[in-house]
Amino acid sequence: MSTLRFYAIKESTNRKSVEIDEKDRKSLIFGSNVFNELSMRQYLSKEAYASIKSANEKGTKIDRMSADHIATGMKEWAISKGATHYTHWFQPLTGGTAEKHDAFFEPIGEGLAIEKFEGSQLVQQEPDASSFPHGGIRNTFEARGYTAWDPTSPAFVFGTTLCIPTVFVAYTGEALDYKTPLLRALQAVDQAAVDVCRYFDKNVKKVNASLGWEQEYFLVDSALVTSRPDIVMTGRTLLGHAPAKGQQLDDHYFGSIPNRALAFMRDLEHECLLLGIPVKTRHNEVAPNQFELAPIYAEANLAVDHNSLLMDIMHKIAERHHFRVLFHEKPFAGVNGSGKHNNWSLSTDTGVNLLSPGKTPMRNLQFLTFFINTIKAVHQYEELLRAAVASASNDHRLGANEAPPAIISIFIGAQLTDVLGELEQVTDGKLSPEEKTELKLNVVGKIPEILLDNTDRNRTSPFAFTGNKFEFRAVGSSANCANPMTILNTIVAKQLMDFKKEVDHLIDKKDMKKDDAIFNVIREYIKESKNILFEGNGYSAEWEKEAKKRKLSNNKTTPQALKAKISKSALKLFDDLGVMNFKESEARYEIELEEYTKKVQIEGRTLGDIARNHIVPTAVKYQNTLIENVQGLKEIFGQSFHNYAEEQLNIIKDISEQISQINSKVTEMINERKIANNIDDAEKKAVAYCTKVKPLFDEIRYHCDKLELLVDDELWPLTKYRELLFTR
Ligand code: ADP
Ligand code: MG
Repeated sequence: MSTLRFYAIKESTNRKSVEIDEKDRKSLIFGSNVFNELSMRQYLSKEAYASIKSANEKGTKIDRMSADHIATGMKEWAISKGATHYTHWFQPLTGGTAEKHDAFFEPIGEGLAIEKFEGSQLVQQEPDASSFPHGGIRNTFEARGYTAWDPTSPAFVFGTTLCIPTVFVAYTGEALDYKTPLLRALQAVDQAAVDVCRYFDKNVKKVNASLGWEQEYFLVDSALVTSRPDIVMTGRTLLGHAPAKGQQLDDHYFGSIPNRALAFMRDLEHECLLLGIPVKTRHNEVAPNQFELAPIYAEANLAVDHNSLLMDIMHKIAERHHFRVLFHEKPFAGVNGSGKHNNWSLSTDTGVNLLSPGKTPMRNLQFLTFFINTIKAVHQYEELLRAAVASASNDHRLGANEAPPAIISIFIGAQLTDVLGELEQVTDGKLSPEEKTELKLNVVGKIPEILLDNTDRNRTSPFAFTGNKFEFRAVGSSANCANPMTILNTIVAKQLMDFKKEVDHLIDKKDMKKDDAIFNVIREYIKESKNILFEGNGYSAEWEKEAKKRKLSNNKTTPQALKAKISKSALKLFDDLGVMNFKESEARYEIELEEYTKKVQIEGRTLGDIARNHIVPTAVKYQNTLIENVQGLKEIFGQSFHNYAEEQLNIIKDISEQISQINSKVTEMINERKIANNIDDAEKKAVAYCTKVKPLFDEIRYHCDKLELLVDDELWPLTKYRELLFTR
């Protein structure tokens, strides 16, 4: 074993788990570091509290005076929690989160200082953020973007810093972050859904999109990570031979959580609870050292913030436990990758989950309306939804040999398939009273309130109805959920608007009753969007063929998939709904392509370096030992040395062959990179990286992994898969 590897493994196996006290009552600490209802009531004047409530509920503006009052109260509260600094916390298009800390402290002359934080500092800041990606919206020499307070997501204290969730926009108003378009999409779906809800209940005034994400991740000891330059640089292993044992025994899934991991989880959950993230579930996942954490769902904007915050603090807490968290979708070849299922639904301010069947036929007609409109939206915009989850790292799941496939389809379960079948038979035009009664009582009325047992069985579906919500499973574990949530809510908003128009048209122009009109429109929707429904095995080759016949897209790579974001219809859709104007959509497209290119480029450089500077020299060293051995045997045995050196000679030859392959493939990859780097057009460049550079990774890896099997374990420099995945 090489020295580095030896010490890494020794260090990691010597680690004890840090005992974490779990005696705190969860309900008592929950949200205690969040400027929530309770603390607002305590620290704000009645007027200030009322203005923040009204901003949250009705979207009204907060005036200057109130902002000053809120700032003062917020500061006092934060200081009581130990905060010394504040920051505008935002989610730039890099995917992570960003913050720039400023102290409350302000000198007032004569050697004195006070703690100061005013409304203007709360509401708006101008970070010098010229190097965040902006896709040409913001001229860098101007470098003017500003962050603006989002009062719908509460401020919180982390460590000694008051963090204020904000949007990040250019001075010209274009969004430079993930949150801004999400907030616009949520507003669009709110309005469109309220309009449709009014067919069923005039009291509905607001509809919230809800999101419950499930975060999967790997934990690897930090000493082991340090011994793997590929994980350090790219977040995944670029090579490594499969271990004798992988996940075939299924002995990790839902097994007992290893002690050290459990200590990390307890610590993490404690922090989450303080920050108001309602974590609920923790368990082992399928692959060794893979885990999942899920909170109780929340309003989508808040849930997105919580997920971004969680990913931040997971890194910080992992450090305390000498772990590295891997969010990459495929850190290890041959074992399962990680996703981030996005459970999504819509619910009203009257307390109704619109995707949950109820007790009455009327409630169920409302359920079916939203259910079928979602199906229609996903069918019409399936390519856009695929684009919403496209990234270099997620390409290793979607479209590779991993769940779910790159083809978007919806699973709804047998019961609802039957219901849709019946609704498809509804008569064209006005319905007879008998037919309506029959429909309401025996079709719509018969939908059981609890569908949970009938659904959620098909784990291969990228978009599954799970009884009272849809579960978008194609989202990658490293993604910011804002992107898929923006697109999903936008397409559903658009669909609901179209639906309203069509129903109103039938009511006004064809003199139909409301129910007749609704039945007529949903019947047509069922017919039109049938092709997106699929109950079978999403991994199978037959499905690929069948999906092609159904004209469903199968965009396996990010450059291919992203194109849907700038199709004429997508640009118009986002613009029409006020989610993103043309410039914003195009800028994002460019940013995502560039990010793809950079990621693949870094992987290529890292792999080339490891192959040439770690693997080949090690192989040569071992080969020299063998050569010396053979020469020695020749000295002893003379011409008959062959009889004693067969294995050695074979390995010597084999090593030379692998080295020569590695050499030529790495050279080829470097040349392809040079060609790609000279391309100016972002799209063409990404395609070149995707089709010319990236395919060589597997070939280089193949030969490196062969060498891993040939070379003396003592010499091998890289921590092996069995050690990365099974060291406890
Ligand atoms: P599981 O999928 O693990 O069997 P559940 O089906 O109960 O468990 O829920 C999965 C996730 O869906 C949880 O994170 C939960 O918070 C979320 N969820 C439940 N109801 C909703 C809803 N109405 N909207 C959004 N997410 C929801
Ligand atoms: Mg799930």
